[in-house]
Amino acid sequence: MRNLWDDREARGFEGDLGLRVYTSRLLGRDASLVLHGGGNTSVKIRETTLYGEDDILYVKGSGWDLATIEPAGFAPVRLSRLLHLAGLERLSDPEMVNELRTALTRADAPTPSIEAILHALLPFRYVDHTHADAVVTLTNTADGERRVRDLYGDLVVVIPYVMPGFDLARACAERFPGERTPRTIGMVLMNHGVFSFGETAKEAYDRMIRLVEMADAELETRGARVTTAPAEAPPPFPRLEAARLRRAVSEAAGVPFLLHFDRSPRTFAFVTRPDLDVIAREGPATPDHVIRTKRLPLLGRDVAAYARAYRAEFEALSASARAPVTMLDPAPRVVLDPELGMAAAGRSAREAGIVADIYRHTMDVIERATCLGGYRALPPEAIFAVEYWDLEQAKLRRAGPPPVFAGETALVTGAASGIGAACVEALLRRGAAVVGLDVDPSVADRHDAPAYLGLACDITDPAALEAALDAACERFGGVDMLVLNAGVFPRSRPIAELEGTEWRRVLRVNLDANLDLLRLCHPLLALAPGGGRVVAIGSKNVPAPGPGAAAYSASKAALTQLARVAALEWGAEGIRVNVIHPDAVFDTGIWTEEVLRSRAEAYGLSVAEYKRKNILRAEVSRTHVAEMAAEMLGPLFARTTGAQVPVDGGNDRVI
Ligand code: ZN
Repeated sequence: MRNLWDDREARGFEGDLGLRVYTSRLLGRDASLVLHGGGNTSVKIRETTLYGEDDILYVKGSGWDLATIEPAGFAPVRLSRLLHLAGLERLSDPEMVNELRTALTRADAPTPSIEAILHALLPFRYVDHTHADAVVTLTNTADGERRVRDLYGDLVVVIPYVMPGFDLARACAERFPGERTPRTIGMVLMNHGVFSFGETAKEAYDRMIRLVEMADAELETRGARVTTAPAEAPPPFPRLEAARLRRAVSEAAGVPFLLHFDRSPRTFAFVTRPDLDVIAREGPATPDHVIRTKRLPLLGRDVAAYARAYRAEFEALSASARAPVTMLDPAPRVVLDPELGMAAAGRSAREAGIVADIYRHTMDVIERATCLGGYRALPPEAIFAVEYWDLEQAKLRRAGPPPVFAGETALVTGAASGIGAACVEALLRRGAAVVGLDVDPSVADRHDAPAYLGLACDITDPAALEAALDAACERFGGVDMLVLNAGVFPRSRPIAELEGTEWRRVLRVNLDANLDLLRLCHPLLALAPGGGRVVAIGSKNVPAPGPGAAAYSASKAALTQLARVAALEWGAEGIRVNVIHPDAVFDTGIWTEEVLRSRAEAYGLSVAEYKRKNILRAEVSRTHVAEMAAEMLGPLFARTTGAQVPVDGGNDRVI
């Protein structure tokens, strides 16, 4: 735990709200304090409005992340209205949200945090709230409240667990004024988190760090540490088992999910603990994690049993819910397995990454609390209330409808340039996770996004393909779509002068490597929750070959035939295989300005005329080919397999 305040950095932020932004980001920068949208902060500012002077609470807006928050991320709410609300006996959730929104001074502001009333009640200018690992480790133990009181004395007011929102604000209003002393700098919420406050942004932040440091030191003194090395070396990654697990999770959820595997030594140390069955069956470290991780992880791989247990728990607990609720999907979000490690499930790579991050912190909290005599989470009813709390579910709904390839992975060969690079973009845009392979190592850095994995790989080396598929399955859990694009286009040469080495080199890349890849991917495609799909990039040369291109034309014709046979053999497993025949795609690496000019001259045309030398008189770009590939992988072609579609602007030799 480090105090990150930096005077020079702080000078870059202006005014009370500016410094509120600065220290909120400092909190957000430390994952042991807040994770992915967790925590909230506020500042009370006196402002002149149309009606005169008024006190405004600037509180974190829902949907903003402390790490990246901007001034616009703070919702300005009239303080007097919030204090009024705090005095009510009862306030339903929809009423609260309506009141919070109508008390804003700016119509386009985000919805204030559900803790806005609590922030308003605390009589300090700056209020910071986190779910600090060290503090929840202390609170989530059998005698947590005593530990917290012994450690902090009257530095903090201790609030027993109450559901966040209006009820929590009411509970704090009842306890805080009577229990605070002049020494009080914060508040600990049992099984939830910690508040600090001060008259300046720096004071509130310093106090948060101080409270967390005290908790850290206490854990250290009590020997509450994390095991970082497993008893034995992790077993090799069973790629197909991982894909089978992903299939089962997706089936339980009813939609495709990605699985992100964590096989670090630290994670293996946790998942191979002999007491895993006990310590991992308690629940989340802080309630709002439940919307990402669900209450419990799946131990082992019996997804169907997990779903049955989830359904049973839902039926038992929904009977006493505040309002009628509909069951969410019963698929696990975290799987702990002694052979696979940890798997985090998400509809996107980003979402799976968030789940993994949250559970990595949960493992630390559980393990350290276990050292203190036992980890204790909230009872299932309390977690259920938060999981099925409409205000929490609204956070997820804000993401909008999912893109067409949500939860699916595509593998593209020759992904560093040309048509392959354009396919990667088209697939990422449609929400797929994409694995790009290329001999060019720059493929690794083409996209900086959790949904992209670029791997330098020579596809003619079967061992390299195996390694790439392992990496793909470890990162995303499987391969649903395959774009066979990599190929070489040798210099024009008549058959009489064509050497065997050249012929074999072209066939090895354009044909043999694709056979290897199809064979290795077949079991993964067969396990794809939405059905496997393959697009092979053929060539106009297949239906209409040209002189001087024997090796290229023969390799692409053979690839086409290979794809057609795959369509026949794999159809019963729901795998679709189609072929695109592009022609004259000039925005690729092969076509330099110089080559273009010489080809145009050979036809007695200008370069512009040469590029439009087709029936539609229209240029064909790599984007046209990539968009066709993406659509052929999508629902538009759901009932099409074994087809060959030209993307060539129309060619009289083909038509
Ligand atoms: Zn909280």
